[in-house]
Amino acid sequence: MSADLSDSVLLALANVESAYGPIKAIRGVSLQVKRGQIATVLGSNGAGKSSILKTISGIIDPRRGTIEFKGQSIGGADPALIVRMGLSHVPEGREVFPLLSVRDNLLMGAYTRSDRDGVARDMEMVYGYFPILKERAAQDAGLLSGGQQQMLAISRALMAQPELILLDEPSLGLSPKLTKEIFEIVVRINRERGTTILLVEQNANMALNAADYGYVLENGRIVMEDTCDRLREKEDIKEFYLGMKEAGVRGERRWKKKKTWR
Ligand code: ATP
Repeated sequence: MSADLSDSVLLALANVESAYGPIKAIRGVSLQVKRGQIATVLGSNGAGKSSILKTISGIIDPRRGTIEFKGQSIGGADPALIVRMGLSHVPEGREVFPLLSVRDNLLMGAYTRSDRDGVARDMEMVYGYFPILKERAAQDAGLLSGGQQQMLAISRALMAQPELILLDEPSLGLSPKLTKEIFEIVVRINRERGTTILLVEQNANMALNAADYGYVLENGRIVMEDTCDRLREKEDIKEFYLGMKEAGVRGERRWKKKKTWR
């Protein structure tokens, strides 16, 4: 990586492959996330979106390829070390600790930190973004609604003071209204705190509106990348991911027949 690239590229994957036993999940993925950016990976069910995030955060080991975060190789590194380096993962399905209070869940996010004043300040910071969490601070996290648990999962990641957040399918199971609210706050966090975000989503509309740059993943491979403004204008994206006008059955049939992207 050249000197000026390493200044702006926070995360770089080159030819990364990973698998679950014999099942290949990602097949030679290369992508870059620039500092301060929201990048998104779009793809349908089973395309390998979650597996990319799990491979970056060290939950599964890459079989091939390189992963660099802040210019340092993290492929196959201990997940706890990766968190300490400034990379937090908000997994699909949130995975909050249901029997711990909202407050204790947040403190779990700060387990690598010893600056108590800073932790207290950041607790107020996340309550500022998600006031409902302050109201429910003493309540068990398992009693929160799905949307509130998503807010808690994002907040818990923020408590680690990450430079990069990997955000897996934040819209999952949420109403359109709540999804919109959460996306707006994710964008605010990015703009106000400068936190870089790599978002994977099936809700292409929301993701393309929120993100700066996008990758399209199909069967474990990146088949297209561009700025989100340009991706939104591409016919394939309109038809297959945004469900626009003529999309429907015709679009899907064309999609299945097609071998290459334009
Ligand atoms: P979704 O949006 O449905 O979560 P995805 O794009 O995130 O899909 P992945 O969950 O990354 O896709 O799955 C990629 C491939 O790996 C799929 O073929 C899936 O069946 C397989 N896979 C995922 N998790 C496992 C696992 N724990 N064991 C075996 N195979 C898995």
